[in-house]
Amino acid sequence: MNPILKIALVGNPNSGKSTLFNVLTGLNQKTGNFPGVTVDKKTGTTKLSNEGGQTIPAFIIDLPGTYSLQPKSIDEEVACEILKNKNNPDYPDKIVVVVDATNLKRHLFLVTQLIELELPVIIALNMIDQAGSLNTKAKIDLLSERLGIPVIPVSARKQIGIDSLKKTMASQVIPSSKKFVSPDTNPAAESIERYNSISVLVNDIIQQNDNNDKPTITQRLDKILTHRIWGFVIFLVVLFFIFQSIFYIASFPMKWIEEMFLHFSEWGRLYLPKGELTELLINGVLAGLSGVVVFVPQIALLFGFIGILEDTGYMARVSFIMDRVMRKFGLNGRSVIPLISGVACAVPAIMSARTISNWKERLVTILITPLMSCSARLPVYTLLISLIFPNGKSMGFFNIEGLVLLSMYLIGFLAALAAALTMKFIIKNREKSYFIMELPVYRSPRWNNVLYTIYEKVKIFLLDAGKVIIAVSIILWVLSSHAPSGKFEKIEKQHEQDLATNHPTNVAAEKLKASYAGILGKAIEPAIAPLGFDWKIGIALITSFAAREVFVGTMATIYSVGDTKNTQSIREKMMAEKNPVTGNPVYSKATGLSLMIFFAFAMQCMSTLAVVKRETKSWKWPVVQFVYMGCMAYGASFIVYTLFKI
Ligand code: GDP
Repeated sequence: MNPILKIALVGNPNSGKSTLFNVLTGLNQKTGNFPGVTVDKKTGTTKLSNEGGQTIPAFIIDLPGTYSLQPKSIDEEVACEILKNKNNPDYPDKIVVVVDATNLKRHLFLVTQLIELELPVIIALNMIDQAGSLNTKAKIDLLSERLGIPVIPVSARKQIGIDSLKKTMASQVIPSSKKFVSPDTNPAAESIERYNSISVLVNDIIQQNDNNDKPTITQRLDKILTHRIWGFVIFLVVLFFIFQSIFYIASFPMKWIEEMFLHFSEWGRLYLPKGELTELLINGVLAGLSGVVVFVPQIALLFGFIGILEDTGYMARVSFIMDRVMRKFGLNGRSVIPLISGVACAVPAIMSARTISNWKERLVTILITPLMSCSARLPVYTLLISLIFPNGKSMGFFNIEGLVLLSMYLIGFLAALAAALTMKFIIKNREKSYFIMELPVYRSPRWNNVLYTIYEKVKIFLLDAGKVIIAVSIILWVLSSHAPSGKFEKIEKQHEQDLATNHPTNVAAEKLKASYAGILGKAIEPAIAPLGFDWKIGIALITSFAAREVFVGTMATIYSVGDTKNTQSIREKMMAEKNPVTGNPVYSKATGLSLMIFFAFAMQCMSTLAVVKRETKSWKWPVVQFVYMGCMAYGASFIVYTLFKI
């Protein structure tokens, strides 16, 4: 018996490869892993029949989505290894390359590289139901002739052309002898030359008999959406709408989630036996979990919007109009979305950097996004501004508090650009960035795609980043609720004695001071004194690593505001605080400003670090980020404090 025919299904991500694989193999599928890597491997069998009506069984392997044969990701490496290594057990007899007919230029890049492998290649020209004027026999024949391989128009979704594809898969296919780059071209020039020959080819095909075609809807829309001025204006309006929704709509489910966890912990306090384990469960695990789940609404909304922008084809236009500006800073047109989302929260923002395919541009975007002023800094800024500018002085038309707040946002943004510019020169580029800007046709979003994107991002966040966040929450809980033995007991005894008098101490505040977090706060005091911070601020800096807004809560506890825990009373307490040595107010303008600058730059957020680890797949980058932002924060605070203290 002949060895079974092995066919590899290859194609760019989103070409409809999985849909076609399902149509071809039906229920005869198996999923596993490629050896040594965590890349899904899907294989299946199908029955083909040739011209003579003979049945030929075939084994189909669905290779991971690939843009080119110069691998940039593990997925692409796996695909390339199989296609290039004749000794690989999965090395195919034939290749079926799935091409999105609505996006011909970009997809032909991979096709021409596959052809040069000198294997038999067949094009499944997919999404033909949406291909518009390309869908004529003359054009498809011309494409086939110019590439030297069979081109079968299909629609995997509508199951059009599948029989014809199967017939071609069963028949003898002769490898093409066409070349698209000259043999002595060096690799950098290769992509450009390849893209040029594809451009010529596609233009020849598309322009055939098209001379009296009216401009398509896409062309008419692009006139406005990529316009030098209107393009930016419309993009700004779109962004404004998206971020308003993220702030506004997400605030409701976020509140529900927080309330739900509050109920859980109240319930726990009521019904669980008192003791260390319950405390760990409520203040460590449950608090950590709530800190994870609370991000879900923002992540879901942001990715819903991004999914829609990607799927309609608008995102490609955004990259196109923003690219020139962003590239000057070592970023990418697509960096705009993460940077601006960073104003709401760096966690979903960093996850959204995934749409940037160039590794270096994506990494730089990830590293600088937390400098954008996120919403968790807002309560900290508001509290501190009200301390330094207590009377709400105004400068003519402007309210000074508003101006300071605006400056903090601006400082964050400028720092992000400056950091990007610096990294542009420091970080090595792993890959050559070739620029293929083929704008896909507009189409209405495929809602199952959008929903799947949301589902996938939320899942990744909960499972991967969630683990780290909960672990750090537990550590922070241990630090702030435990003390060297005997310390807490002493405080409680003292409190009982004091109850008899009329000046009871605040137990929570005393305990926090005596706790390991308190000890750490005191230990770091010499290091933070040059910034104008005392050990109480030190404690708050440590605990606010859980999330920046925790700063306000910690301050409330340290300054023993008792049961009236509103900002007003923390503010009054903090304002009245005097330096025990000099007798001057602790929250002078210098300290306040220095603290604000510290919060603007420092990487005070474990959730962000957890996400950076997940997205860069190593601890190296979160550590680099923590250190560089820490140094910036320390340096800037030092300068501000030194300048203003006199
Ligand atoms: P993959 O990333 O290449 O595996 O792509 P998928 O198979 O997941 O398809 C991406 C999207 O394109 C899905 O929403 C499919 O429903 C859609 N799709 C696939 N084939 C066709 C087609 O022939 N016509 C249309 N209109 N959509 C298709």
